[in-house]
Amino acid sequence: MEVCYRHPNREGVFFCQKDGVRMCEECACCHSPKVYCQFRTACIINMLTKEGSMASCADKAKLKKSGQ
Ligand SMILES: [Zn+2]
Repeated sequence: MEVCYRHPNREGVFFCQKDGVRMCEECACCHSPKVYCQFRTACIINMLTKEGSMASCADKAKLKKSGQ
């Protein structure tokens, strides 16, 4: 099983081609949305974030700070 880069016990269902990392559902977000990415047009993470069904890294960080 390919695992999340932060959670070795979870499956890395999302894959960032630019960073070459797998992420679980909780960790998945674009780490550098403002930086050019040649894979972005085909990136499921980017698509879901745009769609609103996935929180951006910035939003995830905010949620963590507020303790949720
Ligand atoms: Zn994870």
